Amino acid sequence: MTETKPANPLSFFSRTWFSGLYWQLSLTFLAVLTLVAGTYVYITVTSARQYFEAAQQRLNGQVAGRIVQYMSPFVEDGVNEEGVQRIFFNAMVINPSIEVYLLDTAGRILTYHTPGDSLLRKSVALAPIERYIASGQTLFIRGDDPKSDVREKIFSAARVERDGRLSGYVYVVLTGELYDSALALLLGDHIARLVSRTLAVTLLVAFVIGLVAFWFITRNLTAITSTVRRFREGDLTARIRLRATGELAQLAETFNQMADKMATNLEELQMLERLRRELVANISHDLRTPVTAIYGYAETLWLKKNGLADTERDYYTHIILQSAGKLKHLVEELFQLSKLEALESTPHREPINLRELVQEVYQAFMFEADRKGISLSCTNGEGVTIVEIDAGMMERVLQNLVDNAIKYTPAGGGVAIRITESANTVEISVADTGAGIAPDVLPYIFDRYYRRAGNPQSAPPGGMGLGLVIVKKILELHGSPIMVETGPATGTRFWFTLPIVRA
Ligand code: ADP
Repeated sequence: MTETKPANPLSFFSRTWFSGLYWQLSLTFLAVLTLVAGTYVYITVTSARQYFEAAQQRLNGQVAGRIVQYMSPFVEDGVNEEGVQRIFFNAMVINPSIEVYLLDTAGRILTYHTPGDSLLRKSVALAPIERYIASGQTLFIRGDDPKSDVREKIFSAARVERDGRLSGYVYVVLTGELYDSALALLLGDHIARLVSRTLAVTLLVAFVIGLVAFWFITRNLTAITSTVRRFREGDLTARIRLRATGELAQLAETFNQMADKMATNLEELQMLERLRRELVANISHDLRTPVTAIYGYAETLWLKKNGLADTERDYYTHIILQSAGKLKHLVEELFQLSKLEALESTPHREPINLRELVQEVYQAFMFEADRKGISLSCTNGEGVTIVEIDAGMMERVLQNLVDNAIKYTPAGGGVAIRITESANTVEISVADTGAGIAPDVLPYIFDRYYRRAGNPQSAPPGGMGLGLVIVKKILELHGSPIMVETGPATGTRFWFTLPIVRA
């Protein structure tokens, strides 16, 4: 009935491994990892630099103090420029990364010795210098770099005193230009290596984790998509099987429920359609039998005209009338049912004396029951019981029930119509002493297609299986369910209740 397309391994591969979502997730993950790697490199380089500078400052904390010791003779009576320069030079020979300045008490640069460019500042801020000295040359702190307007650098500093009074400072920039250029070279190299290695590891990790993790994530989505596609292509048995929990599992569950419902509905529709076709075929058959009889006997009457004996003519006319009656009944039932089913028929309720209505139906069937040798009784009682009903419809209900009771009860049996009144309701029941309804038939007696679709041959003549459907429909429109109890020994009893209208 449904056909499943053969799986194409290539399309499966392309859907699974190269689906849009798969790559979106992978690339997003890769971008995040690259960002994290970049941040990691930046933090590593910055903190490594700080670590180096702090170590450098701590290690070289005494440099300025020692220079001051050697310099003392040259600042006793004013600054001996040449002597000072020589000491500065010697210090820089030993440690070429430093730059040495002599400052006055206001921070102005008196003399200096540095390689390369000239100075951009004439003075440096004293506050960091004082804090540094006060800490015993142990603080990690930056001060102005005389070679730049903005840059600050780590330094070592010591006071120069003459006659016990402060006469200036020796200010040693510990990471001078030579240090900067050497470091830039080394650091550039180091960073390049760090970045390339980190990125390589990152990409590898991203690739491996991405392949595995996103395959797991998209695997479920792929399963869902392929199942939904199979369903769309007509495989109504396709259901999503996931070993997952959470939203995807809920989605799968909802889809499966929807698929179940659709499959059931479709099956029901197909069954109804089959039954409908069978019903039309059977109804045509039911209608044809009386029509054929009418046609045949009417034709004989017409052809033989006076050549028929009176008894023959009577017999033919009787059959024609009987068949026409059957035909009328069938057409009426069909018409009634189609009206009821099309919801065109709404009950015109009016207050009616139920006892009167029941009495009329009883009288109408007395002759028929008598003819069949069945005793028909009606326990109607005296008085008036007013119910608000559509009299025509309710008469039809009673007629169908009594008609069935007589039809399905053998000669010698009995049919009883009974009205039982209670406080606010009245129960109307039609009971017979027939063979009862077979248990396998019972669930379907109110189903308009049952007898025709089930086993038309077994049906007794005269009925189309619509009588009880009409009864049920009419009572539904009056808000009452129809009840039935039946057994082979007890016969069958149908009953329903209606609310009484008290004046
Ligand atoms: P029909 O009588 O035209 O077949 P109904 O709808 O009136 O159709 O009844 C449906 C079926 O219910 C009948 O075919 C019969 O099998 C069963 N049935 C109804 N009333 C009785 C009854 N009083 N006794 C036994 N069987 C009954």
